[in-house]
Amino acid sequence: MDKKQEEQLRIYAKEHHVPVMFEDGLAFLIQLVKENEIKSFLEIGTAIAKTAITVASLGKNIEVVTIERDPEMIKEAKINIANSNVSEQIQLIEGDANEVECPLQEFDCIFIDAAKAQYQRFFAKYSPLLSQDGIIISDNMNFHGMVENPELTHNRNTKHLVRKIRAYREFLKNLNEFETEFYDVGDGVAVTRRKKS
Ligand code: SAH
Ligand code: MG
Repeated sequence: MDKKQEEQLRIYAKEHHVPVMFEDGLAFLIQLVKENEIKSFLEIGTAIAKTAITVASLGKNIEVVTIERDPEMIKEAKINIANSNVSEQIQLIEGDANEVECPLQEFDCIFIDAAKAQYQRFFAKYSPLLSQDGIIISDNMNFHGMVENPELTHNRNTKHLVRKIRAYREFLKNLNEFETEFYDVGDGVAVTRRKKS
């Protein structure tokens, strides 16, 4: 993505409180995409397409499919994708990730970054589409430190989400087929791979 668009999207996200990935989390994700030679990338939760455009910009041979349900975000994402120079590499799917049909059947990377209460459902639906050596990246595993320190909030809804994320972390740890590493970058990032048999 060119510097000008990056700046523009960062400012938009800030002004409109769009929960785009933290800068160091995004840098970590970029590194993973490069190291693992990711060619197909599925994102659950497009928002304004900042990450989708960033990932597509890493190589002409990278295909991105990204899913978003919020009409306001879809509108912004479309404009931003059209204004980028990687629009032909990105497919935006409009709708709830729990319901939509995915246009590709295999992905080297699946990035889960949408409604925090639904991560386990997303994992169940999309992990079968992961290529043999693919990676699943889950964002917001620390939820601003509240997963470790739940006393940081008294809001009922937030407490519920904290519990959901903690349960998702346990779910990842207990999977038989997959192994997961948790990284303390950005808002907490989990990287899940198939166990070698
Ligand atoms: N991945 C983006 C940030 C995503 S913010 C980035 O890195 O820049 C989370 C987004 O997920 C929001 O725009 C929200 O509307 C969307 N979302 C939440 N639940 C969803 C669902 N079930 N299906 C599709 N999109 C969802
Ligand atoms: Mg996030």
